[in-house]
Amino acid sequence: MGLLDKLLGRGEPVAYQTWHVGSSPQVCAACRKLDGTSWVAEADFKGPPLRDGCTCPGGCACRVLVVRADEAWGPGNAEWIRKRGGVVTGEQMEKFLSS
Ligand SMILES: [Zn+2]
Ligand SMILES: [Zn+2]
Repeated sequence: MGLLDKLLGRGEPVAYQTWHVGSSPQVCAACRKLDGTSWVAEADFKGPPLRDGCTCPGGCACRVLVVRADEAWGPGNAEWIRKRGGVVTGEQMEKFLSS
């Protein structure tokens, strides 16, 4: 893999994705609740933006953080998520990462 690909995070398959609300104090409760939610590609989960129940001013501004398989903890975490049905909450994820 070339250095540029590496810098841009290209080339490796996606291990899993994480919901990220950012640091805006304007984030609504529905979005905040989804912060940190992580899912694998084959899970039946729709990432941001949140359309149902979002009351953020200006609409949902949540983003997806992509974790690639070549990040040291990527594949193991994806496996763990998969064992839990393909989608885990931010709370579950945090507990797992800090254990
Ligand atoms: Zn919202
Ligand atoms: Zn949102």
